[in-house]
Amino acid sequence: MADADCLFCRITSRQVPAEIVAETGELLAIKDINPQAPTHLLVIPKEHIPTLADATDGHTALLGNALQLANRLARQHQLSQGGYRVVVNTGAEAGQSVFHLHVHLLGGRPFRWPPG
Ligand code: 5GP
Ligand code: ZN
Repeated sequence: MADADCLFCRITSRQVPAEIVAETGELLAIKDINPQAPTHLLVIPKEHIPTLADATDGHTALLGNALQLANRLARQHQLSQGGYRVVVNTGAEAGQSVFHLHVHLLGGRPFRWPPG
């Protein structure tokens, strides 16, 4: 299930250190190493799913739980009132650089639309 060459598999299995902010049986949430906003967290399923495009109906609960964890973390970081952004870059053209599915939670500054 884990991919030895995958950075986020190495982080979720604690072979590579990260600043962990939350953990459940199936998810790990960490601080992004190169934050693009005052709060920039990553919610990472422990299962190696390369991109959202690879998710199946069997992953429906996992994906819902990842969004709910982002929601909970946003509340804990006082982002819920002002607003925050949740992003899943999917594929190289969308800017995905780590090919292990993850949900970005960004907040603490205004965001523009459309994104670049
Ligand atoms: P993507 O571009 O795939 O949507 O997002 C990957 C994210 O992972 C980027 O925001 C990047 O800063 C972050 N990242 C890359 N390497 C590491 C690392 O070793 N540790 C942590 N905590 N974040 C990382
Ligand atoms: Zn992986």
